[in-house]
Order: sequence, then C-alpha cells, then structure tokens
Amino acid sequence: MKKLFSVLKYTKDYKKYTALNILFNILFSIFSVFSISLVIPFLDLLFKSNLSDYQLIVSKGEPIPGLSMKGIIDWAYYHMSFIIIGQGKAQALILICIVVFIATLLKNMSRYFAMYFLAPIRNGVVKDLRNKMMRKALHLPLSYFSDERKGDMMSRMTTDVIEIEWSIMQSLELIFREPLIIMISLATLIFISPYLTLYVFLLLPVAGLVVALVSKSLKSRSAKGKVVFGQLFNIMEETLGAMKVIKAFTGETFVQNKFEKVNQDYNKISIGLYRRADLTSPISETVVLGVLLLILYIGGTMVFDGTGGLSGAEFIGYFAVASQIVPPIKQITLAYNNLQKGLASEERIEKILYAENPIVNIPDAKKIDHFTNKIEFNDVSFAYHKGDTGYVLKHINLTIPKGKTIALVGQSGSGKTTLADMIPRFYDTDLGEIRIDGVPLKEIEIESLRKQIGVVTQESILFNDTIENNITFGMDTFDKEKVIEAAKVANAHEFILKQPNGYQTNIGDRGGKLSGGQRQRISIARAILKNPPILILDEATSALDTESERLVQDALTNLMKNRTSIVIAHRLSTIANADEIIVMNNGDIIERGNHHELLMLDGFYKKLCDMQSFK
Ligand code: ADP
Ligand code: MG
Repeated sequence: MKKLFSVLKYTKDYKKYTALNILFNILFSIFSVFSISLVIPFLDLLFKSNLSDYQLIVSKGEPIPGLSMKGIIDWAYYHMSFIIIGQGKAQALILICIVVFIATLLKNMSRYFAMYFLAPIRNGVVKDLRNKMMRKALHLPLSYFSDERKGDMMSRMTTDVIEIEWSIMQSLELIFREPLIIMISLATLIFISPYLTLYVFLLLPVAGLVVALVSKSLKSRSAKGKVVFGQLFNIMEETLGAMKVIKAFTGETFVQNKFEKVNQDYNKISIGLYRRADLTSPISETVVLGVLLLILYIGGTMVFDGTGGLSGAEFIGYFAVASQIVPPIKQITLAYNNLQKGLASEERIEKILYAENPIVNIPDAKKIDHFTNKIEFNDVSFAYHKGDTGYVLKHINLTIPKGKTIALVGQSGSGKTTLADMIPRFYDTDLGEIRIDGVPLKEIEIESLRKQIGVVTQESILFNDTIENNITFGMDTFDKEKVIEAAKVANAHEFILKQPNGYQTNIGDRGGKLSGGQRQRISIARAILKNPPILILDEATSALDTESERLVQDALTNLMKNRTSIVIAHRLSTIANADEIIVMNNGDIIERGNHHELLMLDGFYKKLCDMQSFK
C-alpha cells in the first residue's frame, strides 16, 4: 500500500486535476449504485398487484425528504404511489425509466469527466519524467556512459515511462473510484438488509486474500522482463549504428541470431507474465461469484421464511447491488497487478534519476571568464575503476603556460586521452590536483570552465542536422558572417558552398554524407567559432588520408594561433613544432623536452621518430 502512494508522488504537480478526477469519480460511484437500486421500485411495481398497498402509503401523507436515505426513499415511494393511483402503473413505469436513464446519463458523464481530467495527469507525468531523465542523462559524468549501456537507458526512458503512465492511471482508479463503488454499494446493502450484509463482510476478505496471493510474483518477473528488453534495445541500437561493418564482415546472420536469441528470452518471460496476469481475473471472478451464490442461497431462504423482513423485490435489488461489487474487485486486482509491474519500472527509472553524480559544482564555485596564466597538474593520479591498483595516470606533474603548445605522444593506451580529459573535468583526479590560473578545477564552475576549452577529437562528432547548426552547436544566437568566417579559417567554406544547399545542407546521421576530412573541418570550424583560449586536439588528423590531412592540418594551424594547445598526435610531423613534447608510457611521463632535445636524448621519442622515418 505504501508503494502505491509512492507512485502517486509523481502527480503532485497536478493537484487541481487530481481533485477534479476524484470528484467525478465520487459522482460516478454514487450514480452507478443509484441507477441499479432503482430496480427495487420497478420490481415492486410488478409484484404488488392491489392498489390498496399504494393507497396506504399515500394516506400517510407526504414525508419530508431529509438527507437520510430512508427519508428520500419514503418520499420517492409516496410520489410514485400517487402517480400509480392517479394515472396507472404504465405511467409510473415510464417515470422509472426516465429516472434510470437520467441517472445513467449522469453516471457516464461523470465517468467521462473523470477520464477527461485524468488525461493531462497521465501525459503530464510522463512528459515530466522524460524531461527529468533527459536532464539527468545530460548531466551525468562521462564515466556513467561507459558503464551503462545506451540501449538500456533508452528502454528506461521509453517503455518504463509508459509503464508508469499505466500505473498512475490504475492507481488513481484503484484508490479513488473502485473502493468508493464498493463502499457505496455496501452502504446500500446494509440499508436494505443489515443481517444479510454480515455474511458479505465475512466472505469478501477471503476472496481478496486469494487474489493477492496470485499477483504477488508479478513484480519480480516483470523486472526480469525489463532487463531483457533493455538488451534487445542495445542490439538494435548497436546494429543500426554499425550497418557498414556488419555488411562488410557479412555479419548479418550473426547479429540476427544474437537478436533472435534475446528476443526469444523476452518472449518466454512475457508469456509467463501474461499468463500469470491473466490468471488473476478468472480466479477472482470465480471466488467472488462463489460468495455471491452463498448470499443468494442465504437471502433466498430468508425470503422463503419471511425472516429479516426482506421482500422478494428487495432481495433481488439487494442481489443486483451486491453483484455490482464484483467488477470493482476485479478492477482492483487488475490495477494491483499493473501497479506491481509499474513499480518494477519505477525502480529502474529511479536508478537513473538518483544515480550519483560526483562531478558537480561545489556550493560557491568560482566562475572564470578568461584564462591568463597557466594550467598545472600537481602529482595527478587517476584510475577509471576505483579500487583497481593500476592507475591510468601516475603522479603526473605538468605545467602548460598560456600561449604554448604542449604535445602528448606515446603508445596507444598510454593515457594521453585520459590526461587531456582531466582538463575539462570529464573525470576527477583521484590524487593530486589540477589548477587553472592557480584555482583548483574542483572549485571552478564546470560550465564556465568548459566554455574556456575547445575540443577536436579523432572521430568528428556531428549531429544529423544542417552544416550551419553543426558549426553553431551549443550557441543560442550567432552571426552568420562569423560562421562563414570560421568555416573559411577551417578550410571548409569552399566545400560547404558545393553542397546542394550550402550551409543549410543536412549532413546525415553522424555526418555520414560527408568525407572524413570534411567532417573534421566542420568540427574545427565549430571550435574556431567558439573561440576558446584553451584547445585540446586529440588525434584530430589521425583518421585522415594525406591529402585531406594537409587541409585539416592547415585549418588546425589557423585554429591554434594565439591559443594554448594540448595536442595529441600519432604522426610526429604534427608535433615537431610544439613548445614541449611529453612522452607517455603506461601512465607515466618518461621523457619531456622539445623535438631536438628529445632526439638528442636518444630514447623512446627517438625510436618513435625512427619508426616513422621522420627526420
Ligand atoms: P591513449 O589515448 O594514450 O591511447 P587512453 O587514455 O585512451 O590512452 O587509455 C589509457 C588506459 O585507460 C587504457 O589502458 C584504456 O584501456 C583505459 N581506458 C580508457 N578509457 C577508459 C574508460 N572509459 N573506462 C575504463 N578504462 C578506460
Ligand atoms: Mg587516445
């Protein structure tokens, strides 16, 4: 029950709608029971054959209809008797039909309005949740995304949210509508025959218990289903992004088999889940019907014996109202089942929403708006997996003065990218600290820090959008002239003009409609437009052929003018002019100095140069 209210916390921004929904649900329950109860006077009409019964009622004079049920009914009977005596039974029948019709109309209108006000709640909750998850996802540190899989995230953001939508609706009904119908029906039953209702009270909890037992295991099964569905999403996401490799390595069958296997697992879990869920309503219906039949028997004998003052018409009415209780009980069990499934989703969503984010601003973080002096690494160590003994960076000491170019070289896996990633604070140091102009990174407001830094990586990261929007990415306003200027400096202007729609050309998924060199020059134009004082170039030319490398290299040289640069390069030709070259091996700095000093050293760097026959 506590869990049930925990789902409802999502509706707290929609109090007005929730109140209206509850109001109309109450009206709905009242009109439902009312329209059914009208069967009693109708039966009365059929069974009572002599007029003297009615004359007796009329002769007592008009009762004053108080707020009590009895008062209202006496009042109604008085007027009905009056009509029967004056205008005949047929006329009274018409009257009953009209009243039933109006009651049904009101009941259905109430139901509609209850749903009408539920719609903005359901959809609003889902909208809010998605926004919240996206915001959270955007602020989680990079390390989160190398551990969690994208497909799983996506399945949480889509299907799990929809599951919540259902849970919310079901629980609103569960809490406000169905129990109300049951309560109002029970009140009517007590009114008609308190004695008989005693049996109902004794028997109903038994029915409830049986149903609760069946739906108990649904939650854990549903959670398992969600995990497998996330795997399905992963394969889909990976497959769609890797079509070229799959086709080139003729891996279609392999991927298809992998997919079908997971899909089969999901299928199996889903079938089990459906079967169990489908079991609950037949069981509950059978149990509740058993209860009703018992009541039919007990009530029937009461009518035969004339005990308890129950008339035949009243008993049939009683039975009609009692059978009204069955659908709400069924609904409650169904809703309870769905809620169990929804709670499994809620846990998955909250795992993202409450994921710890270690990289956040400290309370009064310092905003920086320029870079004046130097970046310092003081004895910095870092490991991706905490608790691991092996640090990826080991006691790094490094000073990068303003306006200088520092190059990082070393074998693949030696920690160059990791070192560069520490500067925009993609990761936090484990030991030691990094300072910019003397201020520790952890004390600088992250956004203002990243505004000072431009990054160009090996794979150009572009979006499925126009060239212009890719260059101006992250800017709210921009000057078209400046965009063109940046593109010119990046050697991109000419090829952009040759595109079908110039700057407004869509470049396809991840920029797939452009060549590698063109993509890279767009990334460079983006960095130029941002105009950051600090620049990180991580193998920016490594993926390119010699021809486009020259164009990109020129663009990079333009970009690096008057900036502080950290350049990671594979090809030594790109770094020979650096002010300081840092040679890394296995997380350590093993050699440092300029090109000539390092060649003289005749060490690791010299070997690298010889391998590339670089003079
Ligand atoms: P480089 O850029 O010099 O090739 P990296 O800095 O990318 O090297 O990697 C250094 C080491 O850290 C490698 O052993 C690599 O396996 C590991 N590594 C890199 N990125 C991650 C990551 N996101 N999670 C765990 N380990 C990583
Ligand atoms: Mg790297």
